[in-house]
Amino acid sequence: MGCVIIGSVWIDTHCHLDAPEFDADRDAVAARARAAGVSRLVLPAVEAAHFTAVRELAHRHGAAYALGVHPLYVDRADEADLDRLREALAALREDPRLVAVGEIGLDHFVEGGDRERQQRFYLAQLKIARDAGLPVILHVRRSADALLAGLNRVPVAGGIAHAFNGSADQARRFVERGFRLGFGGAMTFERALQIRELARTLPAGALVLETDAPDIPPQWLYRTAQQRAAGVRSRNEPAELPRIAATLAALRGWTLEETAATTAANAQAALPRLASLEEAT
Ligand code: ZN
Repeated sequence: MGCVIIGSVWIDTHCHLDAPEFDADRDAVAARARAAGVSRLVLPAVEAAHFTAVRELAHRHGAAYALGVHPLYVDRADEADLDRLREALAALREDPRLVAVGEIGLDHFVEGGDRERQQRFYLAQLKIARDAGLPVILHVRRSADALLAGLNRVPVAGGIAHAFNGSADQARRFVERGFRLGFGGAMTFERALQIRELARTLPAGALVLETDAPDIPPQWLYRTAQQRAAGVRSRNEPAELPRIAATLAALRGWTLEETAATTAANAQAALPRLASLEEAT
């Protein structure tokens, strides 16, 4: 209720609140995000077994959600999961919190995955998104060119290339296809020269913020391999978003208010149903 001061709105466009890492304190994690000014989370599913969980979490925490099968989960998915996706999108068509198809895509980094199977699920889910008129949230890891080739075959209503770490030319081609690019914890490392250069130089309208929590911890939560071996865990969470955003502000020479306003407007442009959600609350 009440008015939304757009400058104070942080949107975490990619957060796996359903992940087991949050089982012990999920409500507290969501409360800390709200207290930090992160007023909206987008929760992408990774497999059909989680569709109900992400929808319920979105409704419980005033979040938005996306439904899809993640490329690293296609090995344990089957064709019936594509039917489940199609049916869920049809059944939930009127749910304003359902904003995209995702997380879908291709992962050419992790060894041992079945790339043909990934490709088949990717193209099938692009068609499902196209038919539903929804944008997509893409997982990009060493796979930008293959993802772009898929978008040429099956054009969709844009979306977000999440945790983007490709080249400037690949970034430009995603932007030309109506995509925004997600930046998060990776950008906070000084040695991440290419990502920081992209964050600094891409058109302002191309940038959205994300945590990918519990993954991609920012530099201040990073644990060395030695620490991890000793059992010291680092878990990213959506409350880190404003501090991650401060890195983007510094790279761009923006105030925090400009950074919040610009990236929130971009997120709403990438995921139009998110904009209706902001108007409704
Ligand atoms: Zn993800």
